[in-house]
Amino acid sequence: MKLDKDLKKSIKNIAEVCGGYLTTSLYDENRGELPSWDTIRTKYKITFSDLLVELQIKTKEEYLIQKNKVKVISNMKLLNLEHGHVSKKLYDDSKMQPSTDYITKHYGWNDIAKEANVKLAQGQYKDLEDMINQLKVSIKKLGYVPSSSEYKDLLLKPSQDSLSTQGITWTEAMKKAGYKPYGKAVNVKDIICSNDDCYRQFTPKDVDEKYCDSCFKQLRSVIIKELKHMNSAKLEEICTKLIYLGNSQKNILDIFHSK
Ligand SMILES: [Zn+2]
Repeated sequence: MKLDKDLKKSIKNIAEVCGGYLTTSLYDENRGELPSWDTIRTKYKITFSDLLVELQIKTKEEYLIQKNKVKVISNMKLLNLEHGHVSKKLYDDSKMQPSTDYITKHYGWNDIAKEANVKLAQGQYKDLEDMINQLKVSIKKLGYVPSSSEYKDLLLKPSQDSLSTQGITWTEAMKKAGYKPYGKAVNVKDIICSNDDCYRQFTPKDVDEKYCDSCFKQLRSVIIKELKHMNSAKLEEICTKLIYLGNSQKNILDIFHSK
């Protein structure tokens, strides 16, 4: 059964009241006259995460990432004021939260320092692992696997010089970060999956492909569930579009997101 418009609207309103995100317990605490989450789940055969995707509501984690960003920027500004610069060591010693690992993973240490407009100390990496993590984030942000010289030209961090102080080459570091370095035999540039927490590298089958197979399968299964709730006119419209435009990854996602 399809969630009706009024119920959808009411759930969205609850999410807004709760600060922009929703968990099952938050929903139940604030639902008022609406059916309980258990009832909705049984009646509509929907998981909570599918519900959030369908209603475009943030999960608690997504919400926290956004909220913590403000905190990180203010922490960095404080440290910068006190010490004249910021380093991961200073930050760790201050016992501020969220941790430097969290910051590197979700925002990129250098990127957020730039945004906070603070001065980074020289030797900003804790250890090799920290450098590898930063490399992982830098490549993910770039969105594809560059050649070694391109990496240098783009001034991405950690620099190849920083890596060599740790006795590791850029190519080795890329492998440690989980990427296959761009080689001479590869003529199509590999890209990194567009999904937020996914660092998978893959060779796209066409230029518009943005998600790795495993993430696309997940997105696709959400879409297939939606088909069950569509009337024949809607299904006909979608089929027609797929016939004219083709069923590439981009077309499938565009067609369903624009409905
Ligand atoms: Zn992926």
